[in-house]
Amino acid sequence: MAKTVNYRSDAEIALVRESSLLVGRTLAEVAKHMRPGSVTGELDRLAETFIRDHGALPGFKGLYGCPSTLLISVNEEVVHGLPGTRELREGDVASVDCGVLMNGFYGDSAYTFAIGEVDEAVKRLLRITQECLRLGIAQAVDGRRTGDIGYAIQNHAERNGYGVVRELVGHGVGEKLHEAPEVPNYGRRGHGTQLRTGMVIAIEPMINMGTKEVSQLDDGWTVVSHDRKPSAHFEHTVAVRHGHAEVLSTFSHIEDVLKKKNDWYVELDEEVMN
Ligand code: MG
Ligand code: MG
Repeated sequence: MAKTVNYRSDAEIALVRESSLLVGRTLAEVAKHMRPGSVTGELDRLAETFIRDHGALPGFKGLYGCPSTLLISVNEEVVHGLPGTRELREGDVASVDCGVLMNGFYGDSAYTFAIGEVDEAVKRLLRITQECLRLGIAQAVDGRRTGDIGYAIQNHAERNGYGVVRELVGHGVGEKLHEAPEVPNYGRRGHGTQLRTGMVIAIEPMINMGTKEVSQLDDGWTVVSHDRKPSAHFEHTVAVRHGHAEVLSTFSHIEDVLKKKNDWYVELDEEVMN
């Protein structure tokens, strides 16, 4: 990862927002097809078609040798699950990570879906992970540090009995998918890279129901929880501003679809989180 932090103009941030919004719309397209019996490879194909139909390129495909448009991680898979012949089943939890490259800039966002009826314990994991994301975003303001984001996420996850994955972290986003700085989901307040207006970062808590420890499968991609308990992952691309964080990606299209399908999803209480 390059060490130099980029500071983006408003025009550049607008381009990252366009790419990030297309990721949100792509994930909403995927959401329409998330149900027991769905095949992960088919979800991947429809996402790629959707992105290309909008004049953009899949952001992951070909990067670091990634073969797919989406990374779909089911149950104990934390991140980097490869789409294929796997069928989603009732009670599964599936995180879908997607990147888009358009007009020279990337967008990056991930959402974890409940497939059919899932356990209350899984619903709680999804809620807390999304709260972690929200709390992390609240720290993405001028003058704070990456450690403030990490601390907010880690503190909320661990207070709720969950493990915070250490091996994978958030990152700067721009002309490259992964830029400086690293944005860990753990940390100490007042430590790490200072956040300044114009920085654009992906904040992406990966929270395990059990141990924080992870392993990698033989496919060289899929990261799983060491104890094989479920894991959740939510991600937004965010611009650091003076006094506030500006979320460039969105879950609103996804939530509109899930509401229409009558699927369960996390509805955060804005009052509680602000
Ligand atoms: Mg991502
Ligand atoms: Mg990312």
